[in-house]
Amino acid sequence: MKRCGAVAILVLTGATVMEARQLAICLDIKAIVSEKTLKVFRDGMTALAPSLGSKITFDCGPANGSTPVYVLLSDRPAEANALGAALVVNGRVTPNIVLYCEAIRQYLPSDLDLFVGRAMARVLGHELIHYLKQSIDHDSHGTFAAYLHPARLMAAPSRAD
Ligand SMILES: [Zn+2]
Repeated sequence: MKRCGAVAILVLTGATVMEARQLAICLDIKAIVSEKTLKVFRDGMTALAPSLGSKITFDCGPANGSTPVYVLLSDRPAEANALGAALVVNGRVTPNIVLYCEAIRQYLPSDLDLFVGRAMARVLGHELIHYLKQSIDHDSHGTFAAYLHPARLMAAPSRAD
């Protein structure tokens, strides 16, 4: 009987996590970004979603059952050379994320839409890991490293990321 109880709790926990990982990106575009860059960005997020263990849509309706993630695209200067940031309130990483688009453009050796869009997707992917893991720490390498090399940011995102 004890074993059954443990299994039931595991199933319940799993269901809760899955539900939280249906993410709906709510974009607030305050930066100057081209339609092509936005398309590459959206496609990049869709490609990265499996590596985040998430399903990602850009359909930010109030009753679609997903967890909303508020993403501000800003051209204002970033603090401490950041390319993106997730708001932390009372020790909790919230799904309120800023992408510093001008900082991203300046960080890359090319400002082609393709590269800027991919880099925006990777920076958002990085910030989403902070939220999903509820962690402000970083890995020593990979998408969740504190420092993301320009070449990595410009490479095509994939589910293997
Ligand atoms: Zn980080």
